[in-house]
Amino acid sequence: MNVEFSPELEAFRAEVAEFFATAPTPAIREAGRKTTSVFAPFKECMEWHNILYQKGWAAPHWPVEHGGTGWSTEQRFIFAEEYRKADLPPLLPQSLGMVGPLLIDIGTEEQKAKYLPGILKGEDFWAQGYSEPNSGSDLASLQCRAVADGDDYIINGSKIWTTYAHHANRMFMLVRTNSEGKKQQGITFLLLDRMDYPGMEVRPIYGLDGSPEQCEVFFEDVRVPQSGRVGEENDGWTVAKHLLKHERGGSAASPTLTRYVERARAAASETPSPFGGVLADDPVFQCDMGELEADIASLSHLEKLAISGHPIAKDPAFPSLNKTINSELTQRASVLMTKVSGVSGLARQLEALRVGSNVEPQGSEFDLISMPLYLNSRATTIYAGSNEVQRDLIARSLAAS
Ligand SMILES: Cc1cc2nc3c(=O)[nH]c(=O)nc-3n(C[C@H](O)[C@H](O)[C@H](O)COP(=O)(O)OP(=O)(O)OC[C@H]3O[C@@H](n4cnc5c(N)ncnc54)[C@H](O)[C@@H]3O)c2cc1C
Repeated sequence: MNVEFSPELEAFRAEVAEFFATAPTPAIREAGRKTTSVFAPFKECMEWHNILYQKGWAAPHWPVEHGGTGWSTEQRFIFAEEYRKADLPPLLPQSLGMVGPLLIDIGTEEQKAKYLPGILKGEDFWAQGYSEPNSGSDLASLQCRAVADGDDYIINGSKIWTTYAHHANRMFMLVRTNSEGKKQQGITFLLLDRMDYPGMEVRPIYGLDGSPEQCEVFFEDVRVPQSGRVGEENDGWTVAKHLLKHERGGSAASPTLTRYVERARAAASETPSPFGGVLADDPVFQCDMGELEADIASLSHLEKLAISGHPIAKDPAFPSLNKTINSELTQRASVLMTKVSGVSGLARQLEALRVGSNVEPQGSEFDLISMPLYLNSRATTIYAGSNEVQRDLIARSLAAS
């Protein structure tokens, strides 16, 4: 792939940069700078989603007929690079990156017409109801039960770690519809039109970084229409696995990682080193930084192969490989950031971290975000399937090839 861009592509880059310099509100910019997770602050993130939609740029990875941009691989990568350079909040993955592409691939025409416009515009936000208290890595053991009753299902059970369920107005979920035979064969995939059905309760969980990002969701005799089923009853495992491919392999993480490194280097150039001079000139720091940058460059190449539809990205192990590498690099980048902040990053400053807060942070904005980002990124090797499980999938795929 060319790393030199043509004048047309450089003109495209300038157009994107110009839009990013002018379109976001100050609150959206602040939300972007204060994002310490893969999930940006909800309100500003959805406002930004809608602005991108008005511009026609909300879903570059979608087919044009469903609202995608039709951009080339290079354009999509330039867009992602400029996006991160501008420190804008990343759009939430569950809707545009998971259930949207799933419905495009295998939803009925009615489901596409009903749900895709709301996803594209950012009017709807979908929570992902897969995991349960005793079913995470062994997802197929899930027990949240749905029983058919007329045109409806009646759901009983619970989900956990459901990210942003307290903000969501819709949810896609896996339920058990049959307990006979292999556990994978009794699962059904459902789309829920509301989060406030009678009998449904959402309880936020507070994470290590002090923010309520994940939730528990409880179902007691919750009646939902059967028309929200994707695929056949008891064939939801196939649907669930299809969605996981988008979840694990669908995004470009390297521009975000590059931005973390740039921010760390900028902060290090103003941080005194205990050995004299500034930290950015310290050989050990430079070595850590260089290794990380080299690995991010490798990931970037891998992501470009995926975006361009290269055959390697069609390998069943590819989403697992991509997920494993980008999650571990995110953790390494966050460690480097905390090394730059040192003790200045230790203060717990939840109020200053809130978008719109008038509380001045102690230390710099970099110090404000580095520790929450470090704490939050402990989860990157757990969510979307833990990295131990991903390595197992990669090994099985290699053994089978
Ligand atoms: C921040 C965050 C956000 C999340 N968001 C969502 C969401 O929106 N929706 C949703 O449905 N779920 C979500 N999850 C849940 C996530 O998918 C699960 O946490 C994950 O699949 C691991 O399951 P578990 O937590 O039950 O851990 P367990 O499955 O109990 O695993 C515990 C440990 O054992 C290891 N282990 C388990 N099985 C094996 C094996 N076969 N081989 C080797 N090692 C193994 C694991 O790697 C892990 O280290 C989220 C989780 C986190 C942390």
